[in-house]
Amino acid sequence: MKLRRSLLIALLLLGVIAAGAWLARTQISLAIAARVVRVHLGVDLATQLPDGLHVGVCGAGSPFPDDLRLGPCTAVLAGKRLFVFDAGSGSARNIGKLGFLAGQVEGVFLTHFHSDHIDGLGELLLQRWIQGGQTRPPVVTGPEGVEQVVAGFVQAYTPDRGYRVEHHGDATVPASGFGATARAFKGGETTVLLKEGDLEISAFPVQHDPVHPSVGYKIRYKDRSLVLSGDTRKSPAVLAAARGVDLLVHEALSAPMVDVLRDGAKASGRDRMVKLFDDIKDYHASPVEAAETARDAGVRYLLLNHIVPTIPPLPGLEGYFLGEAPKVFGGPVRVARDGDFLSLPAGTQEIRVTRRF
Ligand SMILES: [Zn+2]
Ligand SMILES: [Zn+2]
Repeated sequence: MKLRRSLLIALLLLGVIAAGAWLARTQISLAIAARVVRVHLGVDLATQLPDGLHVGVCGAGSPFPDDLRLGPCTAVLAGKRLFVFDAGSGSARNIGKLGFLAGQVEGVFLTHFHSDHIDGLGELLLQRWIQGGQTRPPVVTGPEGVEQVVAGFVQAYTPDRGYRVEHHGDATVPASGFGATARAFKGGETTVLLKEGDLEISAFPVQHDPVHPSVGYKIRYKDRSLVLSGDTRKSPAVLAAARGVDLLVHEALSAPMVDVLRDGAKASGRDRMVKLFDDIKDYHASPVEAAETARDAGVRYLLLNHIVPTIPPLPGLEGYFLGEAPKVFGGPVRVARDGDFLSLPAGTQEIRVTRRF
């Protein structure tokens, strides 16, 4: 009897607490949100990470709509310097979600000018300017043609420069820091683009016909290194660049999965789409081909990105996408998602994989 009474009182108390929490739900949520904002804005990821190379996936996707993967974007922190490779749609937002400020981005490197790789460039440049308050614009480096791409974005965003300067004042958003400076290099040959202290960034031509020029990038910082394939078929140039690097970030297309879409389009009488699905298969690499390159180059870790097509979130389909790739490579293979974060601390052989969001 006594036990039953205690139980009743406890239940009553719990009910009162739950009701109180429900009534105060907005205040509680606001307090949590305010705390998250303070923590988030107070974080400078660059100072919290060990010295080394760090790779944040700010876009693991392709032109296909994908809830887990926005347009191509890879953020690379080398020591304290932050660079972005390709700026697909949503890049600036994902860079923020990774814990970086767009204002910290020192420079952008483009692999080629397919729309999915540049869709987010305007937003990234604007966010960098607004958040960073820099007096000089960043350099956007790419193969020949980058001047035209940068000039187009700068022109399109020029009215916004006027609004922002008028609204916030030149002291907060200096007009001189708006836009970007294009820096072109010859995409047909291997080129060292930056060599300062412990950091070296170079570009090499890849095979993405008929897209000329189209390049991949190699980044070396102290004793750690990585290669970004860019968009390419299986390419000896990627193999040569990736020899002995720690991390190969390679694009990947599953032809059998594209064929599922192709057959669906065929059955629906959408012949134009059938042709498009057939065409895209000839200028990308399969997961197995990426794995062969990773194996032959002797890399430590293979991260597949630029995932084509969208992998539906159903059991078994990521494994189907990979096919024999894990067996062929033998080392760790990961299908990248936005928010993946790979840390390569200098002076170690470690590759630590975490999720930032
Ligand atoms: Zn692409
Ligand atoms: Zn492409």
